Amino acid sequence: MDMTWFDEMEARIPTGTVRTRFAPSPTGYMHVGNLRTALYTWLIARKAGGSFIFRLEDTDQTRQVEGATELIYRTMAECGLTHDEGPDVGGPVGPYIQTQRRDLYGKYAQLLVEKGHAYYCFCEKAESEEDSGEFNRAADPCRNLSPEEVAANLAAGKPYVIRQKIPAEGSTTFHDASFGDITVENNTLDDQVLMKRDGLPTYNFANVVDDHLMGITHVVRGSEYLSSAPKYNLLYEAFGWPIPTYIHCSPVMRDAQHKMSKRHGDPSYEDLKAQGFLTGAILNYVALLGWSPRGELAEQEFFTLEELVQAFDITGISKSPAIFDLEKLKYFNSAYIKNLSPEAFLAAAEPYLKQAIRNPDIDLTLVAPLVQTRLNTLTEIPEMVDFFDQLPEYSNDLYSHKKMKTNPENSLEALQMVIPVFEAMTEWTFDSVHDALINLAAEKALKNGRIMWPVRVAASGKPTTPGGAVEICQILGKEETLRRLRLGVEQLTP
Ligand code: GLU
Repeated sequence: MDMTWFDEMEARIPTGTVRTRFAPSPTGYMHVGNLRTALYTWLIARKAGGSFIFRLEDTDQTRQVEGATELIYRTMAECGLTHDEGPDVGGPVGPYIQTQRRDLYGKYAQLLVEKGHAYYCFCEKAESEEDSGEFNRAADPCRNLSPEEVAANLAAGKPYVIRQKIPAEGSTTFHDASFGDITVENNTLDDQVLMKRDGLPTYNFANVVDDHLMGITHVVRGSEYLSSAPKYNLLYEAFGWPIPTYIHCSPVMRDAQHKMSKRHGDPSYEDLKAQGFLTGAILNYVALLGWSPRGELAEQEFFTLEELVQAFDITGISKSPAIFDLEKLKYFNSAYIKNLSPEAFLAAAEPYLKQAIRNPDIDLTLVAPLVQTRLNTLTEIPEMVDFFDQLPEYSNDLYSHKKMKTNPENSLEALQMVIPVFEAMTEWTFDSVHDALINLAAEKALKNGRIMWPVRVAASGKPTTPGGAVEICQILGKEETLRRLRLGVEQLTP
């Protein structure tokens, strides 16, 4: 076999720097586990000042989902997980889409056949070639076909796959950064398919070839690939290639028994966004699902992406499964929301404010600060602020408040005192409304609550509101406030 082409491929491989890759298959949503893999992989590269590569693994054409690639790109961009090389930006070891590399895998498979580590198999199609299932290699008549028989079958145009020839005896050991050394007996490994009948490689083959040709130094992926790792090692060894550092991450669980699964309704990144979680909070929480900071940072919970780059270390990755806790995520989200600048919060909250408030006279810049400190998720906003738009129907029971010493009777009196004061006002600001109500209470020798509580109830129709009577009146404006207080009087008049 002429090795020139292979030598040229070798010569392209960047060396001497940390190179990691996120290698999603465009088969659906960005699951929390995928996002975590992407994040950890990105962090390893950024921390080391290395390169982060985006590679699209689309060789399983039967599982493609329309729009999945765009969704992955969008998620990565929103999360700030920028890549240095990839289908859209190019790079020294492209193409970065596996179906565009299809010719190359066949050549490497041939090379393995020549080296005696792979063989043509002409047997009936297995149910799924991506996973060799119960395939019994001892019973495979093709494992020991002579080169002449193979040539004859190929000449006759018989469909074939190329399988890895696992050594019949011995054992294989591989090392994982969190799981340590794992040794398996070779006779427990299957002769997995490397090249499928459609001429495309399986994931199991393509990942090894590409990780090598792209100079990948650290491979982060889900622990579902742990059992295949010995077969990958045998491939690396057969080619004579260095083995990257493996970091297998345990699954993200819904509870002690079940993995998170979209099919069972567990949220993807997109779902969490739609449920009113901020990207920063999601990333922060996801970082801690299976990784914990060490040393003086051990107690720290809140990390910006930049801080994560500084703090991240693969020794902090845990091999025990992490349980996804929505309440904990809410805690992070609430803190992230509070931490936003007023402008950033308004931008994030605006769609939700507008869902509930259609009246253009309501100034959303005044409403936003009232809710910012009271939220777990942005989706809680509409229900909190809807009363600004429409006064709901409410019961006079709301006027009874023990601590404020109010009841429907004295609330009626309070509203009747407030209305003429408001009517006489020419300036309508927070301070003027505030002073008017406080002065009225002082003048009548009443505790403030005796006035404030009835005004708040009449103006909002709700038992709890973001903001007190003064803020609510200020935002509603003089006319609307008076209209609501008069309705209160009407409703309270026996
Ligand atoms: N395409 C594989 C997946 O989406 C990638 C696994 C890996 O990172 O090697 O699960």
